[in-house]
Amino acid sequence: MSGPVLELDRVSKSFGAFRAVSKVSVALEKGEILGLIGPNGAGKSTLLNLASGALHPTSGDIRYHGRSIAGAHPHALVHRGIARSFQITAIFPRLTVVENVRIALMARRGLCRDFLRPAGKMLKTEIATLLERVRMSDRAERYAGELAAGDRKRLEFAIALAGDPSVVLLDEPTAGMSGAERAVVVEVIMDLNAREGVSLLFTEHDIDMVFAIAQRIVVLHQGEKIADGAPTEVRASPRVQEVYLGE
Ligand code: ADP
Ligand code: MG
Repeated sequence: MSGPVLELDRVSKSFGAFRAVSKVSVALEKGEILGLIGPNGAGKSTLLNLASGALHPTSGDIRYHGRSIAGAHPHALVHRGIARSFQITAIFPRLTVVENVRIALMARRGLCRDFLRPAGKMLKTEIATLLERVRMSDRAERYAGELAAGDRKRLEFAIALAGDPSVVLLDEPTAGMSGAERAVVVEVIMDLNAREGVSLLFTEHDIDMVFAIAQRIVVLHQGEKIADGAPTEVRASPRVQEVYLGE
């Protein structure tokens, strides 16, 4: 099917009298890496929450493969191929990395009755593949609760990928990471995009990283979209420099 994979069409979100997102339109194309930037409080997380179904728009429409998903439940959207990572990770700290990924795969495949079975070798190949993709094969037997921040984020990535998504939404995927950990996340994102043609929409504090990997950048400021284009265009925009890069 042609046209954007995910389309936010003049979406607004108010919290009481406060309008956090105001008539923002964003179209995510198949296989695109789209970076979402803007100062603190600009509405980036709110926009991702609208895209993932965690929040419902006050007005406007959201379409996935051309069909409206405004009002759909996040679980339903995960099953239809929209995965997101949260700033707070939804992993089980007292289970190992392998067990966390196995549960994600089982949930995706509707194997919930098997949760209580001795897991043994179930889905071993699939788990190994996912851990390889996020460069965590060497940490497979570690307890999730004992992982460093960067490793936890990568586990979260593996859990998101277990759903075989066509769209991945990431809210500050490198928050709290060291330079080396960031480089691995960038590598994982690029690899995912190159190999699977997955569409990515992500927010990030690290502007250099966004300009380095995004094919297109959307800039929010006080809930409004002030720029949308190729990195070079966005960087050159006087409005963007004024409200954001010139801070
Ligand atoms: P960003 O991710 O760009 O830093 P957010 O989307 O988190 O910004 O927040 C945008 C604005 O909306 C902020 O002013 C924030 O305080 C406000 N906001 C976000 N979520 C809520 C909420 N649940 N209730 C009230 N205000 C909120
Ligand atoms: Mg945020």
